[in-house]
Order: sequence, then C-alpha cells, then structure tokens
Amino acid sequence: MTMDLRVDPGRLRADIEKLSTFGRDAKGGVSRPSFSRADLEARAWLKDRIRDAGLAVRQDGAGNIFGRIEGPGKTVMAGSHIDTVLNGGDYDGSVGVLAALECLRRIKEESLPLARALEMASFTDEEGNLVGDFLGSRAFMGLLDRDEVTRGRTQFGRSLPEILDGTGLTVESVLAASGERPDLDAFLELHIEQGPILETEEAPIGIVEAISGKKYRWCSFTGKASHAGTTPPELRQDAFLGLADFALRGTRHAAIDHYGSMVTIGKVSVHPGVFSTVPGRAEFSLDIRSVSAETLAALEAEILDIARDIASSRGLKFASRLVDATEPVRVPPRIIGILEDECGKLGYRGMRIASGAGHDAQILAAGCDSGMIFIPCLDGISHSPDESIDWADLEKGANLLLRGLARLAG
Ligand SMILES: [Zn+2]
Repeated sequence: MTMDLRVDPGRLRADIEKLSTFGRDAKGGVSRPSFSRADLEARAWLKDRIRDAGLAVRQDGAGNIFGRIEGPGKTVMAGSHIDTVLNGGDYDGSVGVLAALECLRRIKEESLPLARALEMASFTDEEGNLVGDFLGSRAFMGLLDRDEVTRGRTQFGRSLPEILDGTGLTVESVLAASGERPDLDAFLELHIEQGPILETEEAPIGIVEAISGKKYRWCSFTGKASHAGTTPPELRQDAFLGLADFALRGTRHAAIDHYGSMVTIGKVSVHPGVFSTVPGRAEFSLDIRSVSAETLAALEAEILDIARDIASSRGLKFASRLVDATEPVRVPPRIIGILEDECGKLGYRGMRIASGAGHDAQILAAGCDSGMIFIPCLDGISHSPDESIDWADLEKGANLLLRGLARLAG
C-alpha cells in the first residue's frame, strides 16, 4: 500500500458544504427526509459527483445509491446516509457517504491494485422518517416484510407507496432490492459520535467495538379518574403516580444494576389531563438499550417486572407492547484490529467506544463483517442545527477510513 495514502480534505469539505445546501431550512438546519424535493435534488447531485469521480453509479430498488470500482472477488463497502431528521444538522450521515466517496476517488486516482471490488453506498431513510429506521439498509439486506412497508402512514401523512410515486421506485422494487446486492466481504461507516465521550477524552477517533440493540415499547398504566378535591389519597388509583414511581425505579435499576445500558421514557401523556382530575391513565414510550443481547433481554424483563409490581401495589393495570427492536452488534476482531493498526500508523489518538445510537452498519452486520469509525461532534449534539465538527477530526477519520478500505480490499 502507498504509505502516504491520504484523502484530499479540502475536496471532502467542499462536498459536505455543498450537500448541506440541499434542504437548508429557515431555522438554519437541514431538512432532507428521503424522497423530499431536497433529497431528490441531493441524490441527483450525489450521482453526478460519483460519475465525476469515474466510478460506476448504480441505484437499487430501494433508492440506495452506489459508486463502484470493479475488482475480483467479494465487495468491500463503505457508506452511510444523506437523509436527515426534520431540522437536523450538516454532518449526521453525510460525512460517512462523502468520506466514502472521497476514499474511492483517491484509490482510483492512485490506481491501487485491488483484490476485491470497492463500493461506496448512500442508504435511503436511515432516520426512519417513513416506515421505521433503516429502510434502505434493511431492504438491501432483505430484512423488510411486505406488511411493514405497505401499512399505515408515514410521519408526513402519506403512505410509502404515495411517497414513492414519481420516483421510479415502488413497494415491489423496495422489497426486491436485496436481489441486487453484491457478495459482501466487509462494511465500514464513518459517523459523528452523537455523544460526548470522544470530546471529553480529547480523542479524534473512536473505533466502535459494539453497537447497542434496542427495544421500543409503548406502555400504559390504567387506574381510575376521580375528583382531585374529594378523593382521599388511600382511595386514589393515580396512573400518573404509577408512572412517576416507575420512571424513578426503572431508570435507577438500569443505572445501578446494568450501568452502560439505558432506559429512557421520552414521551408521556396523562389522561384526562386536566387540573381537577386524578389521572386515570398514563401512556408512555419506553426505550431500552444495551450493547449485550443477554443484558438487553434481562433488563427488559426486569423493567417490566418493576412496572407490574408498581401496578399491583397501587391498584393499577400495566400493559405494554413491543413496537420496534434491533439486535446489538459486536464488531468482529478482524475489523477492530485493522482499524487500530492503521490508526496507530497514522499517529492518531484513537479509543475503543460503544455506539448507543443505531446505524446502517448494524444492519449490514447481518451479512458481512461490519465496523464503524466515530469522530467527535461538539457537545455531543446531533439531530440539530447546532451539530458541529472540527474539520481536522474529519480529515483524520476519513484518512483512517481510506486506510481501512485499502487494507480490506488490497
Ligand atoms: Zn446517522
């Protein structure tokens, strides 16, 4: 391998700044959900950039976009996503797609001899604006079912078939996308950390060793609505107090018995929701995460036991249903070894880190050795116009991605 192989940081930065203009919104952020007008314009621009780099451009039935350098044997892939949440930032996803493009561009310019094919990828709707997280990468890996993509409305009020209308894609093409997948050897994703650890540790590089799995549950306590002035405490069946008790006990249990795993209640509604009535019903979301499949299962069971225990002692009913789940992923030692080795050769301070957020790399892990490189983001902020990175960190992350891809495909 060319030992001084490096990305062109100015060219990479210019690409990221250009992509951020598609969907720039009035609040200074980026609103670019998949198949919005801004996304369609960004897709056309990305395909042009891939062609300009001399790569073969391809789009599959799920709208995933690829740029390829042919080689013998299996395919080594790098990528991420260019869709954003509404009023998101400039870097979540886009750094991974455009750094992958820059890496392939450099490998092509250097005419590196390849023992494998190389592809960069931009996956559709990673953010789950349409029908659940990771639509594109799940379609790519054949992990979608028909019900899931046809049922219900997206958060924009229209169904997925309606949103796909006019894009040249259909529900059938989305469901068939995995048939176009090349035989994969490995996948790498560069991404902002979306947390405070690298910044706190003053490390420009995080080498991800595990990605959290999650369980999303929609839960409720049901008691009895009664008059706030006339019902004595011992006769109340206050659903909100059940929830409050559960919120404290459940999160304390996770923090003490399973430190590193997380329990979060992010959305709450209390009914009837008026001044003068003891709440008869409390509905809430429950987000449980862990990097260990065993811990995730145990923590979920223990948390639900706590909820049932609280319900029985307070005269309430507890109910919950699973609405989404992803499995935790351990990054294979082969990938961690290559990235740590190259990080050392580049002279960068890197540290191993776990990802608490989900990523396309986690979905790709179903079919190949999959790994991630994190770079810091200011104050750990993401999904916000305040997302910010240090360009010097991005250059380091992209150089490590480049060296990692050259090793895997060389
Ligand atoms: Zn992302």
